[in-house]
Amino acid sequence: MTRLLVFAGVSSISAERTQTSVDVRLLSHTPDPQRAVAVAARLCYAPVGAAELMEVLSDDAVERVLKVIMTSGHFSALEHGSYTFAVDGVSRALTHQLVRHRLASYNQQSQRYVAYAEEPCFIVPPAVAVNPDLRERFDAANLAAFEAYRDLIDAGVAAEDARYLLPNATETKIVVTMNMRELLHFFELRCCNRAQWEIRELALAMLALVEPTAPYVFMDAGASCRRGPCREGKMTCGDPYPKAPKRE
Ligand SMILES: Cc1cc2nc3c(=O)[nH]c(=O)nc-3n(C[C@H](O)[C@H](O)[C@H](O)COP(=O)(O)OP(=O)(O)OC[C@H]3O[C@@H](n4cnc5c(N)ncnc54)[C@H](O)[C@@H]3O)c2cc1C
Repeated sequence: MTRLLVFAGVSSISAERTQTSVDVRLLSHTPDPQRAVAVAARLCYAPVGAAELMEVLSDDAVERVLKVIMTSGHFSALEHGSYTFAVDGVSRALTHQLVRHRLASYNQQSQRYVAYAEEPCFIVPPAVAVNPDLRERFDAANLAAFEAYRDLIDAGVAAEDARYLLPNATETKIVVTMNMRELLHFFELRCCNRAQWEIRELALAMLALVEPTAPYVFMDAGASCRRGPCREGKMTCGDPYPKAPKRE
């Protein structure tokens, strides 16, 4: 299991609960994902089955097939490579954005079945974390929301209703599975500087985890400016990433 921690501010009302960061772990992935993808693509033109191709396709042939896939845009074979991540230490604001990606699979810690007995962690945006006055306001609002939540729970209100009071900043945990095609799409949108900071941190961390497992597929993954002109048009951040190396 590979683990990567990325800095993000985390606030907790209890002084002892000071865990920080977007905590992303790669739980599992398709073994030899580039070979799996190449075999699936090669099968279209092969007189033998995929199991035999998996054994006999040379590394050079795998590279050649991958190049055709990645340069032609015939990406369906990329759907045979799958990655599962455990994501902790992120806000509900982040996961609301994440689950808009419909071609992924999710399971998230439930606020119906998990009632908070103690204060949860609250994710602090960097813009708030650096300003002591704003940080104080932020923490006070979270504390007030949590205390009201507890009052409702203590009065017998179900967690599924009491949770209406909890802020978007509340820390949550989610498992997400994406195939390689969806990952490339997710990275294009969410590694971009136009993406919100927290999901951008998550996307960059996920990219760092998958890149070593399939270096050719992911070599130019990320915001569109890594491969060509920015696709955000007038909304461009004006601060492009360095260009990725061209595919050999
Ligand atoms: C910078 C930024 C700002 C955003 N702002 C807003 C906002 O203000 N309001 C808002 O509501 N959302 C916003 N979003 C979310 C955005 O609109 C998408 O919902 C989200 O990025 C998921 O993208 P997607 O639909 O391409 O991805 P996925 O759901 O992962 O789908 C991947 C691809 O599959 C195809 N696909 C999936 N489902 C269908 C379908 N039903 N029919 C046809 N093709 C399909 C499409 O080609 C799609 O691009 C924002 C996203 C970003 C990155």
